[in-house]
Amino acid sequence: MPGLYIVATPIGNLGDISPRAAATLARADVIAAEDTRVTAKLLAHLGLRISMTPYHDHSDERTRAALVARMADEVVVLVSDAGTPLISDPGYKLVRDARAAGRAITTLPGPCAAIAAITLSGLPSDRFLFAGFLPSKAKARADTIAELAGLRASLVFYESGPRLSATLAALAEGLGDREAAVAREITKLYEQCITGTLTELSARYADAPPKGEIVVIVGPPGEAAPESADDATLDAALREAMANKPVAQAAKAVARRFGLDRHETYARALALKDGG
Ligand code: SAM
Repeated sequence: MPGLYIVATPIGNLGDISPRAAATLARADVIAAEDTRVTAKLLAHLGLRISMTPYHDHSDERTRAALVARMADEVVVLVSDAGTPLISDPGYKLVRDARAAGRAITTLPGPCAAIAAITLSGLPSDRFLFAGFLPSKAKARADTIAELAGLRASLVFYESGPRLSATLAALAEGLGDREAAVAREITKLYEQCITGTLTELSARYADAPPKGEIVVIVGPPGEAAPESADDATLDAALREAMANKPVAQAAKAVARRFGLDRHETYARALALKDGG
């Protein structure tokens, strides 16, 4: 049947390609690939020679329109370099436009690093939020973490080795020192999943940024009792938080950390700021 086929591919171990995915790739008239050199290796492993065209969400409208036109009477397969297309990968705009044009669309589910990592972590998997890559700039990263802080769910982030320790420290600061896991090189030779609190994990990786591909999973809030604090500890925590955050955000983070009323903590933060 002509149309768009969204095909998940291995995130490391080529044995994870499903028979249905391999058969669909073999039947493709064209494969829209994030990087044709990467997909060429998968095709070589499967013994296939299929026409490919590069596709990204920043590909121009004409490229996308041409692919959507071809879906009317050809099999167009969308793949990314690894894992499930559209998950921190190109494809959303192509699916949107194919759907608007009334094309047949189907998906062939398979490997996805986020899902694989949550299954490895031992952290609660009944509710989780996939948050993709955090911004690399400190302020934008802290703002994004603050948005996620109140969710009663595990959080899943994609990350890279050099940024890992700083990200874990920023998560500890914005979320409190929750249980977490770092899953690395999933399905590959050196697959590893290390668990601990965010602070422990940040310290572990501070001087030795790990190699390879990484997913960070953070457990939901509320399982650890809030820290207790006398006035001096509370003021010190507020001053520290206000050094790199607006007052309201600093007060919110500190109130969460110590289990205090947000409004009262905000009032205390304002008083400290005004020299109280
Ligand atoms: N679409 C892919 C998926 O379904 O997982 C994700 C693509 S995203 C551009 C790449 C990120 O996924 C990496 O930076 C890493 O955070 C994560 N990742 C991919 N493969 C992985 C693996 N084998 N082990 C751990 N993380 C992986």
